[in-house]
Amino acid sequence: MTDPALQLIQSDTAEKWQQILADLITDPKELLEILELDARQNPLGEHGLEEFALKAPRPFVARIRKSDWHDPLLLQIWPDQREALASKALSKDPLQESRFNAAPGLLHKYQGRVLLTAAPHCAIHCRYCFRRHFDYAANTPGRQQWRQALDQIQQDSSIHEVILSGGDPLAASDRLLAWLIDELEAIDHLTTLRIHTRLPVVIPQRISPPLLELLARTRLRVVLVAHCNHAQELDQAVSGAFSELAAIGVTLLNQSVLLAEVNDNVDALCKLSDALFAQGVLPYYLHLPDQVAGTSHFQVQEEQGIALVRAMRARMPGYLVPRLAREIPGADSKTLLL
Ligand code: SF4
Repeated sequence: MTDPALQLIQSDTAEKWQQILADLITDPKELLEILELDARQNPLGEHGLEEFALKAPRPFVARIRKSDWHDPLLLQIWPDQREALASKALSKDPLQESRFNAAPGLLHKYQGRVLLTAAPHCAIHCRYCFRRHFDYAANTPGRQQWRQALDQIQQDSSIHEVILSGGDPLAASDRLLAWLIDELEAIDHLTTLRIHTRLPVVIPQRISPPLLELLARTRLRVVLVAHCNHAQELDQAVSGAFSELAAIGVTLLNQSVLLAEVNDNVDALCKLSDALFAQGVLPYYLHLPDQVAGTSHFQVQEEQGIALVRAMRARMPGYLVPRLAREIPGADSKTLLL
């Protein structure tokens, strides 16, 4: 039986991440006030909030340098006026995911694995995100629709891995995750549960005792692919969250997006790899930004990405150099560029 004191700590912690999630910064004015930035001298302008709201969790905002319009964390969340720039190369469904929607909430793009959108929302809105135009309303299954997705997985024994994605799957409640994991565990041909999430980085309190208990008890091998783009995102609290995950045997990987003005230089990328490794996480992919409408100011050319990863290789051991990749619609896996 669980110690009552421990139960109390557990419920406190479990509530804390939900409180943080319910108290996101959504007002640009409030964000600027916290960061001691004067709106009248804003060099970034403001655009695109109607289409994709501002959402920033306070633990993430606490890592942004004050009085710095060009802070690499701020640039990831600020609705820059350059979002208005149109480009023929950029589209609202750059990966043509609507083509792979096998059932509500189920994307079957790659052989052997499927992607389930476990939660319709994120804890943070990353302005470069390829899902900023995704139709979450049509891809938020209720239990009945989950059944349909689960039945499809059950009927296809070539599927061995389920990737929980979103939104952010860890924005879902523990109750929903417990139900879903139980259902997936009961499918014999599944061996691996992969969770693509930005939550351990942006709200590390999400790695709460109930969630850890859930992940520790499943028979599925658990791989958590975090999303962090800059060493400044990794503080002590994030380190604590990763340590707890590692302690229960979760494999920890990271994927980043190569973003102009945020991390498009070799020093920033090497520092990120070093900081991840110091927290027990291996760099996995470095993605070129998807060709999403509204993100022209984040785009980095393929040749520059290749040159940066080559420069990383000259400085770092191979296991700290992420694979440079880009998603090409219709390809049966990510396209590796280096
Ligand atoms: S957390 Fe992930 S899915 Fe959500 S906005 Fe950021 S990059 Fe996109």
